[in-house]
Amino acid sequence: MKAAGRKGTMLVISGPSGSGKTTICKSLLSDPRVRFSVSATTRAPRPGEVDGRDYHFVARERFKAMMAEGAFIEHAEVYGNMYGTLRKPMEEALARGEVYLLEIDVQGALQLKSLGEPGIYVFIAPPDFDELRRRLVARKTEAPDVLERRLKKAEDEWRERTQYDHVVVNDRVERAVGEIRAIAGLQ
Ligand code: 5GP
Repeated sequence: MKAAGRKGTMLVISGPSGSGKTTICKSLLSDPRVRFSVSATTRAPRPGEVDGRDYHFVARERFKAMMAEGAFIEHAEVYGNMYGTLRKPMEEALARGEVYLLEIDVQGALQLKSLGEPGIYVFIAPPDFDELRRRLVARKTEAPDVLERRLKKAEDEWRERTQYDHVVVNDRVERAVGEIRAIAGLQ
């Protein structure tokens, strides 16, 4: 599912918070043929996050200016913060023939799909919702109200999984990664 003139492949990964998608993406990125799409966001960096590596951390005004300039191929508001995928680095990576990995939320993925953006769309599913709740609770990074909000969003996102090309159940990280690598032709 490549567009004409593009050598690479856009690989879109989304899934509910706590589905383990970040761990899966980190593992996929150990392959030098895979490049991570560093999104712009208005949210504050978390401890350990590096500007330009994890995200481009920008002020809301800057984000809006970038939107007006057409810098984003998609953007969405998630939990009150703005997130956007930058168009230029994606086009460059695809021209180089790389697998360009977008870890974005369901709204963003479905925007790209409805634009007819060629790519492989993968939904990471938790083995079950009780497990997801346990994972989110165990993470202990969210206040109870934030946790509830994330679980509600996870349920809403779960319903959209049928719109993806592939649903990969994250029962074991290595197995899930192997499945995605096969889907993306990374053997
Ligand atoms: P977090 O703030 O926890 O890093 O990310 C929150 C949510 O925003 C996650 O679901 C993540 O996948 C999503 N996200 C990160 N970057 C982008 C982006 O560029 N576009 C969209 N639509 N979602 C994004």
